Amino acid sequence: MIKVQNVSKSFGNTDAVKDISFEVKAEENLILLGPSGCGKTTTLKMINTLIKPSAGTIYIDGRDVMHQSPTILRRSIGYVLQNNGLFPHFTVAQNIAVVPQLLKWEKRRTEKRIRELLEKLHLSPNYLQAYPHELSGGQQQRVGLARALVADPPLLLMDEPFGALDNVTRSKIHDEFKALDELKRKTIIMVTHDVQEAFELGDRICLMDKGAIVQAGTPTELLFKP
Ligand code: ADP
Ligand code: ADP
Repeated sequence: MIKVQNVSKSFGNTDAVKDISFEVKAEENLILLGPSGCGKTTTLKMINTLIKPSAGTIYIDGRDVMHQSPTILRRSIGYVLQNNGLFPHFTVAQNIAVVPQLLKWEKRRTEKRIRELLEKLHLSPNYLQAYPHELSGGQQQRVGLARALVADPPLLLMDEPFGALDNVTRSKIHDEFKALDELKRKTIIMVTHDVQEAFELGDRICLMDKGAIVQAGTPTELLFKP
């Protein structure tokens, strides 16, 4: 479904991403794992076209993303930003309704979908009119996920989605994440610097270091194959 082919990105003298290639199959959960500054976020942002590669090409379903229309990209990619990226001056409902508004959904359809998502993500509808700062970190994370999932995109990109959570909340959300039906049919690329998270949630892991992919494989392959 996703093909990243010899992609590089430089910012001035900084080579943020150096000639990386990988593929992600439909419904696979791929983890980009590596220390801070190794190029994970830049890679995700090139897939959603927020950053243009200096070299190389990224294909979604065989089409170069740089030649895809913004409307189709909005329908096909859900993005969970680092630290939620919720708009602080928007309510929970307004935050989740951003993409439906861009796609010009009818109000009733949006409301029905938002209620359905809140239920699936174990968030009380009482929070609909609340603002992000009134929620706990775990709740904000669920809203960020709801916002990315609202239009049911086949591809979900997640940038350190559980990074800001304490350990207890994080392992609870990991379990929910694995159990969530909505996610089972999705192709997911998740960025993390947490080894445990990568091995717990990934079907395959790409280990990144200084802008390059240094190793790749399933958790079992990475552990048992020299
Ligand atoms: P990670 O997500 O793994 O922490 P990033 O992709 O954010 O890494 O960053 C990779 C490298 O590129 C870092 O050295 C970072 O400082 C640099 N970088 C990222 N974005 C920019 C930018 N907009 N301008 C200049 N340098 C950047
Ligand atoms: P606005 O004043 O901008 O319409 P609202 O908070 O009323 O702000 O609505 C923002 C979005 O959230 C709308 O698209 C609406 O469909 C959705 N929404 C608002 N309230 C609810 C609710 N109680 N249940 C489900 N969705 C809601």
